[in-house]
Amino acid sequence: MNSLSKYFLGIYTGVKSLLVGMSVTWKELWTKKVTQQYPENRKTLVVSDRFRCELTMPHDENNEHACTACGICQMNCPNGTIDVQSKMIETEDGKKKKILDVYTWDQGMCTFCNLCVITCPSSAIKFENNFENSVFNRRKLIHRLNNEGSKLREKKKEVKPAESKAE
Ligand code: SF4
Ligand code: SF4
Repeated sequence: MNSLSKYFLGIYTGVKSLLVGMSVTWKELWTKKVTQQYPENRKTLVVSDRFRCELTMPHDENNEHACTACGICQMNCPNGTIDVQSKMIETEDGKKKKILDVYTWDQGMCTFCNLCVITCPSSAIKFENNFENSVFNRRKLIHRLNNEGSKLREKKKEVKPAESKAE
């Protein structure tokens, strides 16, 4: 291909690319707009359930959670966002047991990767999609996830069906 042909091919490619781009712009000009009028539309705003914004530790009506204070979430967090403080107690039958004392999550450090949630063996934490978390002070982004006075939910012992007696 000689230089003149290359010159005209360049012009052709450039004009074609321009027309393709302009056709998209023209099409979008007439497409129905989907701009969200936030915050006016707060009441009708739909945020995807999968949107991760706030790490929570669900508690039941008895103020019990499922966290065993194993620390796996803390170990798997890539940037030190979670701090699991545990303490030792003595159970009624005299055994030592480690329980959760304070579970802290720093929202300002979190990358919302979800590693903590998917590696928790007890499904004790989950992400909620509450997205309005702006504060004026970064210290307010540090949240305690376990309620005051809460405790570990005891697993119900499975009742094994009675073994059939050999005749
Ligand atoms: S989502 Fe990721 S960064 Fe945030 S606390 Fe969990 S593991 Fe850490
Ligand atoms: S939230 Fe899950 S992984 Fe983290 S300490 Fe509690 S039980 Fe362990």
